[in-house]
Amino acid sequence: MAFYPPEPFRIKVIEPIRLIDREGRQKAIQKAGYNVFALRSEDIFIDLLTDSGTGAMSQAQWAAIMEGDESYAGARSYYLLKEAIDDIFGFGYFVPTHQGRAAEHILASLLVQPGQSVPSNMHFDTTDANIRARQGRPVNLVIDEAYQPSNPHPFKGNLDLNKLRRFIEETGVKNIPLGMITVTNNAGGGQPVSMENLRGAAAIYREYGIPFFIDACRYAENAYFIQQREQGYRHKSTLEIAREMFSLADGATMSAKKDALVNIGGFLAMNDAELYQRAANELILREGFPTYGGLAGRDLAAMAVGLREGLDEDYLAYRLGQTAYLSQGLQAHNIPLILPPGGHAVYIDAGALFPHIPPAEFPGQALVVELYLEGGIRAVEVGSVMFAHPDPDTGKMVYARLELVRLALPRRMYTQSHLDYVINVLGRIASRKDHIQGYRFTYAPELLRHFTARFEPLAREAALPAERR
Ligand SMILES: *Cc1c(COP(=O)(O)O)cnc(C)c1O
Repeated sequence: MAFYPPEPFRIKVIEPIRLIDREGRQKAIQKAGYNVFALRSEDIFIDLLTDSGTGAMSQAQWAAIMEGDESYAGARSYYLLKEAIDDIFGFGYFVPTHQGRAAEHILASLLVQPGQSVPSNMHFDTTDANIRARQGRPVNLVIDEAYQPSNPHPFKGNLDLNKLRRFIEETGVKNIPLGMITVTNNAGGGQPVSMENLRGAAAIYREYGIPFFIDACRYAENAYFIQQREQGYRHKSTLEIAREMFSLADGATMSAKKDALVNIGGFLAMNDAELYQRAANELILREGFPTYGGLAGRDLAAMAVGLREGLDEDYLAYRLGQTAYLSQGLQAHNIPLILPPGGHAVYIDAGALFPHIPPAEFPGQALVVELYLEGGIRAVEVGSVMFAHPDPDTGKMVYARLELVRLALPRRMYTQSHLDYVINVLGRIASRKDHIQGYRFTYAPELLRHFTARFEPLAREAALPAERR
């Protein structure tokens, strides 16, 4: 039996959830155009859509909320946040933003010119889109092991340093306004990046004079993976490891809705004083004055507490233990997964589970719909619905390299029995997998299309056993 680590907290406030019946689920998903982003949350039993802003705050965070200072300028809450960011990240400057994509937008609009490329291990969807929105080119240079779902490499989020050097040489430094690394690699299975790799990438970026920004959303989970898996870090605290990670970079974008354990918030940090000045001006135009950046003072206060709580090692052991437990339960049903499991989520290889559904018919989307129909569970496709795009040179459709479904675990929210239920539902789906069919778009916008696209099932009636129609 897989080990489930007891939660290092007890429950003080509860939020009721319920499972509506199958007929209700069928109606709801049809009405939603088979896109789970269009469902009402009340129609969902277990919501694993995202770990972004969905977690439970601690009593210390709620207490901080009551002490939030709502002054327009120079609020006490801003200085609390500044202390936490200075302590953990150590960059010279930062601006708060309402979430991660606002930080990305400001960074991309200040640095990226049309036609320029931004390399990373892998860009997440909002980063990818913010670069494309400036007519830039996001480039993913993760190590090949990242595309081998069962390869047990301990740091599958690593940037391929040879590919990076070659890419810079071929593209030319003047066409690369910044380089990035995402920790952990959300789009590639929540896989960590090693300190050695961060150090190597930083050295290359520095050698060519390319500013290096870390997408820091899951800095704490990444730090814990380094402590557990990388030689020489066993006796370092996650705080020390985080400091070392960020000492290698010139700046960071952060969605505090992840490892800062809040429901809203983010920031953009950097060492370059002139870039900060331009970011602050852009922030004033779009988000708000630099000491609140589109957030309430109470949000800044909760973020300040959450940034530190995210690094708590008992919490991180429990958190990574949850994904390990879910992963082992699904493996017992022979469900193909990205292994080892990531920090914040378990990723199912839907392309391998449904080999009869081609990428153009979205095997991941098919599994997402089944999860809802079978068990009222909401997950998210991380495959060709999210990432397929026409090649800017040839116009030909480029599909995602992996067709994944992400089961993201909100922080400090669901218990062992919830995870057992999810395992059970997926076992039932896997037992009739050959009968599940693909989907096609009936509507899709150009950028970030997974959020608002609508679908229709392909020959679904014929595919379903009669009793389920
Ligand atoms: C969530 C996320 C973002 C964007 O943050 P938002 O707060 O959702 O805007 C960027 N990068 C990564 C890796 C993320 O997980």
